[in-house]
Amino acid sequence: MTGSFNYIPIIGLEIHVELKSNSKMFCGCRNDPFGASKPNIYTCPVCLGLPGALPVPNKKAIESTVKLGLGLGCEINRESRFDRKHYFYPDLPKGYQISQYERPFATNGRLQVTGYRLEKKTVRIRRVHLEEDTGKLLHRKINGEEVSLIDFNRSGVPLVEIVTEPDIRSAEEAKETAKKIHRIVRSLEVSDADMEKGSMRLEANISMFKGLAFEYKGQALPNYKVEIKNINSFRFLERAIEEEIERQRKILESGKEVKQETRGWDTQSMTSKSQRTKEEAADYRYFPEPDIPPISLSDDWISKIKTQISKLPEEIYEELIRAGVAEQAARIISANKDLAAKVQESTIKYNKVQKDEELEAKEIGNFGNWVLHHQLEVREKPAEELIYLFKQGKEGIVSDSEQLEGWVLGVIEDNPRAVADFKAGKQQAIGFLIGQVQRLAGGKADVKKVKEILLEKITNK
Ligand code: ZN
Ligand code: MN
Repeated sequence: MTGSFNYIPIIGLEIHVELKSNSKMFCGCRNDPFGASKPNIYTCPVCLGLPGALPVPNKKAIESTVKLGLGLGCEINRESRFDRKHYFYPDLPKGYQISQYERPFATNGRLQVTGYRLEKKTVRIRRVHLEEDTGKLLHRKINGEEVSLIDFNRSGVPLVEIVTEPDIRSAEEAKETAKKIHRIVRSLEVSDADMEKGSMRLEANISMFKGLAFEYKGQALPNYKVEIKNINSFRFLERAIEEEIERQRKILESGKEVKQETRGWDTQSMTSKSQRTKEEAADYRYFPEPDIPPISLSDDWISKIKTQISKLPEEIYEELIRAGVAEQAARIISANKDLAAKVQESTIKYNKVQKDEELEAKEIGNFGNWVLHHQLEVREKPAEELIYLFKQGKEGIVSDSEQLEGWVLGVIEDNPRAVADFKAGKQQAIGFLIGQVQRLAGGKADVKKVKEILLEKITNK
């Protein structure tokens, strides 16, 4: 870093997700581009863009979009509509994409993001809108000639676009944000969100703010941004952003301006290349789709969808941690839908039979850890039986201070980095250390006591 100013990265994400549904977005063709045995078998006049064909919106896809909007903490717009976005490309047979511009289904969401080295932070979601995917171009060499082939199986597949506000300040934060969105999409079961196949695709927009610190309070953002497209893994997203930050920093430090443009990430060379100088929204000549009437969503309909939303893994994780479950156990349980549901059902029932509040928190913590060590049984048995089994085995729980102290001291000795992290204020590190003690104890250490002893030993060290 040179000069008296910092350059602060201003980063936003655009994430496209192909929705699961039986049929495509605006026609009855099958939505299964990856399972198709041959190119161009799931096509009709609508998704081939033939003149006169009329689009009919897919209700399931709208439902999934609203579900996703709710999962991302958005407001759902009661009045919504589709617009035409015009641009020319061979994979877009109509010459425009049916998308949403001024009235998307969901807006103004927020997302809590935490990573290993990150503080908790909020990334605002600007919008979640529904559109259609394009066909797929295949570049081949046939009889020594370079040709481009096109497969329309993907043309018209329902596609959701999630746009964040530029609240992200580092490549790592961007990666964590994308990962969190991925987890939410998967847990809502609206898409496979398979990055390798391309059913979830990442784009980042990056610019640099010159100043000492940037905290968005309505001040003007940089007057340019560079978009990076074609990113198909979280690791490449981080790489691409790191590289772009450096590229822009060099340009700015040499006194030049950064050009507004779209760059494509190239996995072969692991670098981004300029594709085109960026269009403005006006270049797309958006206007309301005349063949689809505006869509009104009723409060009742939205409430019904709300009830279908299961708790997100992060929420379950936070709850388990609060109940005293060791971090490692909480992570595994919350990531597994069946297991998480079983633990929740059990803890609710368990809570009802417990009277003593103090005992309750401790017991649930132990229960969570017990569950992790009996995963197979847990999956097969009803909640009542699990509670019974847990109580039976409860005698096995080690709460002998001397024994626990021995494990704790060993773990502190073997994990100086986690101890240092905790001392430096990383609260999560304590969960990791508890997990290490549990490993030694075969999951039988009394969590509450372990935590007490750990805190005491670390602070007195
Ligand atoms: Zn079709
Ligand atoms: Mn889009």
